[in-house]
Amino acid sequence: MSRHTEIFVVGGGPAGLSAAIVAAELGGKVLLVDDNSKLGGQLIKQTHRFFGSSARDAGIRGISIADKLCEDVQAHKKNLQVLLDTSAVGFYGDGEAGILSPDRYEKVTYERVVVGTGAVENSLNFENNDLPGIYGAGAVQTLMNVHGIRPGQKILMIGSGNIGLIVSYQLLQAGVQVVGVVEAMPTIGGYLVHASKIRRLGVPIMTGHTIVRALGTDGVTGALLCRLDDKYQRIPNTEFEVACDCICLAVGLSPLIDLFQQAKCKMVFVPELGGLVPLHDGNMRTTNPRVYVAGDASGIEEATTAILGGRIAGARAYESIHGPSAAAQKIVDDANLELKSLRAGSTGDRIRWGRERLSQEIAAC
Ligand SMILES: Cc1cc2nc3c(=O)[nH]c(=O)nc-3n(C[C@H](O)[C@H](O)[C@H](O)COP(=O)(O)OP(=O)(O)OC[C@H]3O[C@@H](n4cnc5c(N)ncnc54)[C@H](O)[C@@H]3O)c2cc1C
Repeated sequence: MSRHTEIFVVGGGPAGLSAAIVAAELGGKVLLVDDNSKLGGQLIKQTHRFFGSSARDAGIRGISIADKLCEDVQAHKKNLQVLLDTSAVGFYGDGEAGILSPDRYEKVTYERVVVGTGAVENSLNFENNDLPGIYGAGAVQTLMNVHGIRPGQKILMIGSGNIGLIVSYQLLQAGVQVVGVVEAMPTIGGYLVHASKIRRLGVPIMTGHTIVRALGTDGVTGALLCRLDDKYQRIPNTEFEVACDCICLAVGLSPLIDLFQQAKCKMVFVPELGGLVPLHDGNMRTTNPRVYVAGDASGIEEATTAILGGRIAGARAYESIHGPSAAAQKIVDDANLELKSLRAGSTGDRIRWGRERLSQEIAAC
């Protein structure tokens, strides 16, 4: 079986949904696939009120932002077809992809594709890190906030970035004891407002510490921790044990990039954006002119910036088929203005440096 579409969108998170909505609103014919049974990507797990721009969803819970995007999808269903439980499994040749649903495999031919596949969680090397009871923070959120299952009774969180802090708070809300948050850096990685919330509830945040080993044989019964010096080396004789039945790793994300590699897009390593990303310009176009990128797949950032990047990608993908459009240009101009203000200030330094590197690479290309 095969189907054709003008604009193929892979991923139904905030980036892919925004790209698809904009392209459909402009009049393009769009097919979106997502491998989950519900649209929203990471947003369907986010029960907390979002940080970000007040003009764009700050203070609104992630799940509600997903609901709003789904309403927009419904409003444009004449031009926008959605296939859930469907993965894009490969890009074969220019303008051809394979998609896999529970009951069939199909070929999709397209004129442009926007890839908004999001990110994968990083793991951490330590002894016994394959014991049952060791999860990534995304898996813990999926268990708790999507399926209503507590991952354990006493959990140790590794990583004090925003994800580690927010998931710790959600665990406490679900009645799970958080025995501590372990952080290798000398300072807390995430926003202090999130750190204060869990500290007030009695959770110690151990900066300058790491996990040496998970304890237990059939499952986690505890963890051996130790202190680190200012060069991140273990300080001898500082090991101590904590009891827990679950260890949660919140140690960063990396862009999910396999499809770009299959599409022969040039990849570049930009640590500030989370590692290997497809080289792309300000229009979110990669070095394969049929392929656009948006969201965490273009560099780890936030849902608000994923939405704006998605809007740019959707508008430019549409224009590259149908020619210049004043409406598309306005969408891009507005999104760029918002992106500039979101990335301003010291919290946006890292992203601005990463994006600057991309601009230099693309200029040299
Ligand atoms: C705990 C936590 C708290 C956060 N808090 C905030 C916050 O307060 N404010 C904020 O702005 N951001 C926040 N974020 C970040 C935000 O959730 C992400 O930046 C955003 O979801 C990225 O959007 P995306 O569309 O790029 O990717 P995702 O939301 O990850 O969506 C990608 C989608 O693509 C699907 N997919 C992947 N590969 C394929 C394939 N081959 N075929 C089909 N489908 C595929 C995935 O299953 C997923 O549904 C938080 C993240 C976490 C984990």
